[in-house]
Amino acid sequence: KAGDVGDRLNEKVYVVGGFVRDLFLNVENWDIDLVVEGDGIAFAIELNKELKGNTKLYKEFGTGMLELENGKTIDIVTARREYYEYPAALPKVEKSTIWSDLFRRDFTINCMAIQLNKDNQGKLIDYFGGFTDLKNKRIRVLYNLSFIEDPTRIFRAIRFLARYNFSLDEETKSFMEQALGENMLSKLSNDRIKEELVYILKEKSLSESLRLMQDLRILSSINNNLNISNEIIDKINSIKSYQDQFKDIFKDINIVLVKVMILLSEVEAEAINGLLDLFCVNKEIRSKIYNGLISKSKVYELLVEEDLDKYCLYQSLHTLSREAILFYYIDSDNAYIRHYLMFYTLNLQNKNISITGEDLKQLNIKPGPIYKDILDYVLEAKIKGLVYSYEDE
Ligand code: ATP
Repeated sequence: KAGDVGDRLNEKVYVVGGFVRDLFLNVENWDIDLVVEGDGIAFAIELNKELKGNTKLYKEFGTGMLELENGKTIDIVTARREYYEYPAALPKVEKSTIWSDLFRRDFTINCMAIQLNKDNQGKLIDYFGGFTDLKNKRIRVLYNLSFIEDPTRIFRAIRFLARYNFSLDEETKSFMEQALGENMLSKLSNDRIKEELVYILKEKSLSESLRLMQDLRILSSINNNLNISNEIIDKINSIKSYQDQFKDIFKDINIVLVKVMILLSEVEAEAINGLLDLFCVNKEIRSKIYNGLISKSKVYELLVEEDLDKYCLYQSLHTLSREAILFYYIDSDNAYIRHYLMFYTLNLQNKNISITGEDLKQLNIKPGPIYKDILDYVLEAKIKGLVYSYEDE
């Protein structure tokens, strides 16, 4: 349909970027980006008449988005050229052709387009050798200043390396080193760095990307307390196998939090807060990670005891997130600690009591702090296996 609309408006239209890359890699990707050589806004309005979704139009940028009934979206941009007035600045934009639109992009594998107009339907536009790089599993920039103009591309390169298990083209690596040498990362705001780091951490396989970041001292240049040892990399790699092993128990947790806890596990307590700014997108996540890290040594001290009381175990863990519990399990190689963590997860973490303050009222107990004491006492008895039913409670 996009091709038909392009024909009707007498404009060339292409699907570009990640969609094309993933099409050739046989990876499902429904992020559809269309580039129109002409007027992206008019195109978006026309295409939407066919697809009957909702349009969001950004006239000043010549871009639009269609939200379809099935929840998928299509982004439409007017082919544009971007140029940078100074390194790491936001780019200036002007209308242009597909060539310039592809040339403003990051890596050759993201710079391919497929034309959709009827006469050239399916024609691959590959000015920069993206297809060959895909075949050779290579991440390559288009020109030497690419990382200097936009240092976020350093993180993007690492993300794609991790995701597809590709390698970095040698020359591209030297351009990256040059940009790092010129301290280009310091030009990025913390928020941009955070966004990119979290994207990287969301990728399933991380070992190569972490090793490369370590090699190039990327993390330590952002914050000198961030050093990734091989042990940390191994632990992060092992997450997947623990997730598979315990898939029912830990299935709906936020695995990025576990990764961040492992990444920061060797950092001194005083430095943790400063580092959390780099990884935490909101307060809830921040406190889960912080508590998990800060409580670690206390938890480990307690969980090596041979005959640990169940209620004591419960008390030491129940305020912590499930992400923290999995983190401890991966982090510690002590058999007692692991045993107790698993025992807690399987038998204690969801324990609660059936009686409430209402029941205490019915028993004519005067409301006050004693309610909490009683309810805690009943919970303790339940955890210790002294009471079972509502009546026992
Ligand atoms: P993902 O599958 O992670 O979404 P993607 O390639 O679709 O990967 P997006 O961030 O959605 O990534 O970007 C869409 C396209 O925009 C990319 O394929 C790339 O061509 C271009 N792009 C994105 N960020 C940059 C950048 N910093 N510099 C140059 N081009 C970029």
